[in-house]
Amino acid sequence: MKFAKPEILSIPPDELRRVFGTEHVPQFTAKGECVNCNDRPEVRKIALSKGHLACLGKLSHGVYCKGKNEIHLMKDLTSDLKLSNYEYVAFQQLRYFGLARPVHDAPGYWLLTHLGAEFSHGRLPVREWVKVLKNHLLEDLMGRSEKKIYVHQVKGFPEWQLPEFEIIAGDVLRIPQVSPQAKLFDLKPQTA
Ligand SMILES: [Zn+2]
Repeated sequence: MKFAKPEILSIPPDELRRVFGTEHVPQFTAKGECVNCNDRPEVRKIALSKGHLACLGKLSHGVYCKGKNEIHLMKDLTSDLKLSNYEYVAFQQLRYFGLARPVHDAPGYWLLTHLGAEFSHGRLPVREWVKVLKNHLLEDLMGRSEKKIYVHQVKGFPEWQLPEFEIIAGDVLRIPQVSPQAKLFDLKPQTA
């Protein structure tokens, strides 16, 4: 019987050291099991989805309401913005696309990155998919799509409200909408 070669076997040693640390760099059998601890870590492919957009929209709205780019997922995202269990998991994945990241030294707080803001405005694209191993983004070329997509190109693209703010030098500046109905449907993507 022939097994498909586990994807983990094609990960370069440097990348494995980065993911697992130098203490326990696993060595794998042909089936992808660590010869030392029998662990069988899976490489996961994560495609940017409308579920991610829902999370990004809630983060963005939270930033707008708070007027500060520092959002606590429990304390600041309440009522309409409250994350479902599913969204709470999806939210953590925003960082793999560079859209959001935890605030340094402030547990529970997240910020919208520059890329996250530009993506939300329809001005910059992000990777269509990424690959993740043990909560680490695989950074070499096997770990992410070459293709980048704009917000309106996400599969199942939902209604998307353009952010009503810009982040300038870390400050949240509220801006009036061009039109209250302004949706990304009208936007033409710029070239990448
Ligand atoms: Zn091991």
